[in-house]
Amino acid sequence: MSYAKVLCVGLVGVAGHVVEVEADLAPGLPALFISGLPDTALHEARDRVRAAVVNSGQRWPNRRITLNLLPATMPKFGSAFDLAIAVALLGGSGELPLLALDRVVVLGELGLDGTVRPVRGVLPMVAAAARAGLERVIVPADNAAEAAVVPGIRVRAVDTLHRLVEFVRDGTPLIEPPAPVPSDGPDGPDLADVAGQALGRRALEVAAAGGHHLALFGPPGAGKTMLAERLPSILPELDDEAALEVTALHSIAGLLPAGGQLLRRPPFQAPHHTATVASLVGGGSGLARPGAVSLAHRGVLFLDEAPEFGRGSLEALRQPLEHGRVLLARSRGGTEYPARTQLVLAANPCPCAKPAGDIYCECSPLARRRYLGRLSGPLLDRIDVQVTLPPLRAAELMEATMAEEPSAAVATRVAAARRAGAERWAGTGCRVNAEVPGPRLRRPPWRLPERDTRELRGRLDSGSLSARGFDRIIRMAWTVADLDGRDRPHSDDVREAIQLRTGDAA
Ligand SMILES: [Zn+2]
Repeated sequence: MSYAKVLCVGLVGVAGHVVEVEADLAPGLPALFISGLPDTALHEARDRVRAAVVNSGQRWPNRRITLNLLPATMPKFGSAFDLAIAVALLGGSGELPLLALDRVVVLGELGLDGTVRPVRGVLPMVAAAARAGLERVIVPADNAAEAAVVPGIRVRAVDTLHRLVEFVRDGTPLIEPPAPVPSDGPDGPDLADVAGQALGRRALEVAAAGGHHLALFGPPGAGKTMLAERLPSILPELDDEAALEVTALHSIAGLLPAGGQLLRRPPFQAPHHTATVASLVGGGSGLARPGAVSLAHRGVLFLDEAPEFGRGSLEALRQPLEHGRVLLARSRGGTEYPARTQLVLAANPCPCAKPAGDIYCECSPLARRRYLGRLSGPLLDRIDVQVTLPPLRAAELMEATMAEEPSAAVATRVAAARRAGAERWAGTGCRVNAEVPGPRLRRPPWRLPERDTRELRGRLDSGSLSARGFDRIIRMAWTVADLDGRDRPHSDDVREAIQLRTGDAA
């Protein structure tokens, strides 16, 4: 026997595809060739695999070896193919009968000493194997908990190539995955901790209910960051499909917490303003790492001190926010990751970040305008809710001895409002009000009667409001109505929406 085949899984974006690793051994000068669109990490596999095989006490076949990864048209990234390559090679050389690996997916990177190392993206790989109807998978021991999250497939783990060889040869049992950890870890921060800030709390609730992007302006200490961090706590939990997708992205980034569990809470990402473009949108060699905008998929992306982000960074985020996905250019075709995230940005009113009216602030009006102007074009245009938070006064802090409403209570209203919106837009492809195109809201049956939009039209005519701003306010008015349990917005809802857009108390 000089031919053998072992199953593995390759990732294209978050989607896994079953890959056949074929090994063919022919007489001739000893050599090893790999074909089937491998990347450099995979080319280096030949050195890792050779050392691992020899150091595991196996004989290296001194023949002309050809490895082929099928389907050949699919680009392959990373080192998860090592283990499958090693056993295919030993199978092909006649050293190892591979009956025990029939229809079994084998994943893992090899160390030179024959240890099996964890790989990124195990969860979407195992999910792909299950979807392809395969029933058994062997993964690195350090990835076992994560792999065991996927339903409908039997997971076993290995820590060394030697252990896998013993299993294949003699049926020596493999490592069982640990029992899954039931919860999502400790609860995140709660709105009950936020003193005062009625306007900020309402803005957060409206943003959550309608899926609107949110901008919080105000002096340091006004509670912008505290509010932003609590947005996930009032958003609905992720459903099965979303949870699997979000967990897969974190798996590919190598950021899943140990223990193995589906991420059920909407993720929160807060990249620093010095973060590189690659860490914001994704990149890196081999299997591309998702950036913050994808790790915040179905959750919240928070840009604190947003004007401090470089123009290039803000520009790079524009496309993903608009399309809900990121396309990363690779040498052999692009990699696409989802990036449907809710943006929250916070900004101080001026570059020196002293409290408003502070006698030490010497920023000129021009400097202030310029500072916030950095946000205009690329991002601010797509943000519905924009409020300026007042500095927190002592009175508010004192009143805070009274209990503030906790996140759970707000989350109940948000969930009800989201249900109302989802029912209204069912069949249109929109799930939340923020996704509804302006023209649809301006046409019957959704057009609001003139008496409710009089003030808004006045602002449009006088030029103090753009057409786009008009649509955004109407959209928020629907969310306000949904939150208050009305089936259509009336003039009070429009007035509150104006306030949430312009900061004016109309
Ligand atoms: Zn200043």
